Amino acid sequence: MVTNSLPARHNTGPITWQQELATAFTEPAALLQALGLDPAQLPDGGLEALRKSAALFPLRVPASFVRRMRYGDFNDPLLRQVLPLGQEQLQQAGFSADPLEEAAARLAPGLLQKYPGRALLVTTGACAVHCRYCFRREYDYGADSDSEQGGRWEAALAALTADPSIEELILSGGDPLALGNARLASLVQRAAQLPQLKRLRLHTRTPIVLPSRVDAGLLALLAACPLQVIVVVHANHAAEIDEEVTASLKALRATGAHLLNQSVLLAGVNDDATALAELSQALFAADTLPYYLFLLDRVNGTGHFEVPEAQAQSLMRELNGRLPGYLVPRLVREIPGMPGKTPVSIGVALS
Ligand SMILES: *Cc1c(COP(=O)(O)O)cnc(C)c1O
Ligand code: SF4
Repeated sequence: MVTNSLPARHNTGPITWQQELATAFTEPAALLQALGLDPAQLPDGGLEALRKSAALFPLRVPASFVRRMRYGDFNDPLLRQVLPLGQEQLQQAGFSADPLEEAAARLAPGLLQKYPGRALLVTTGACAVHCRYCFRREYDYGADSDSEQGGRWEAALAALTADPSIEELILSGGDPLALGNARLASLVQRAAQLPQLKRLRLHTRTPIVLPSRVDAGLLALLAACPLQVIVVVHANHAAEIDEEVTASLKALRATGAHLLNQSVLLAGVNDDATALAELSQALFAADTLPYYLFLLDRVNGTGHFEVPEAQAQSLMRELNGRLPGYLVPRLVREIPGMPGKTPVSIGVALS
């Protein structure tokens, strides 16, 4: 008998991360309904405006992340990171499609080098979540889709082989954990064969937004990697780090990987010293150290997230006075053409 329905065990057992991704929220109305929110209460245009902004950069948020949001609160800091507000349609002076001028940093299709000693591979354009402030929201992944060549990344690996000065390969995207374990394992194995490579870094938000992605296969492939592994996750608010995320991060740490976090300073999300202090503490409780706190990249449609530099400096002074040094992230911004992220000096706190 031919049937289209899944065997019963697939319907009743715990769902896989792939199923969680496939059932992520993509409709603004469904997301608001799940949170008990009435779109008529939105300040700028209601559901129609949300749909228009979602047409510019699609809404995508896994149910696991939505469960960490406060019910009935438009100002929830997690919701604000993913909800396509009408404000995204504003054209603002100083904001552009490629503020980081990444197109100029291409060594090979999908391979960017901006800084000495390390290169970044765009492994996929996909992410488990779409963050509204993302600097890659306008990145032309289509132009890099030929970098993959059926999962073999030949041109990029050839460019790395030809440059012995590159000691660290950063797997980025999109999000490298949007790839399945088989493709990731083959890429990691290829990287491990490059004689000069010492470190492999993953830049990923997936362990935060979809902790079930940290499965046994992923842990095994990282544990087996002969290179030193660094996993840089991306969380912006302590409420993102629930028990399941903490367990996933601790499992990653147990493979021997070093865990760091980068955040973006975002108005209405984490632009307050208490929120930043709680984030650092929640990260450390999950074996993860704060690394960078980025000032917003000025990409089109993100102006409502910008925190003025003077306010960022004052927040950092307050944080510096509250936390041990290892829990204070470095405030940086990205300036095209600079040899690394540019530190923003915060001055001294006078009490
Ligand atoms: C941010 C970035 C890196 C990593 O910089 P670190 O300071 O080493 O964390 C590397 N390559 C590119 C292209 C980047 O944008
Ligand atoms: S996960 Fe990272 S790359 Fe993907 S949308 Fe969010 S910020 Fe951008």
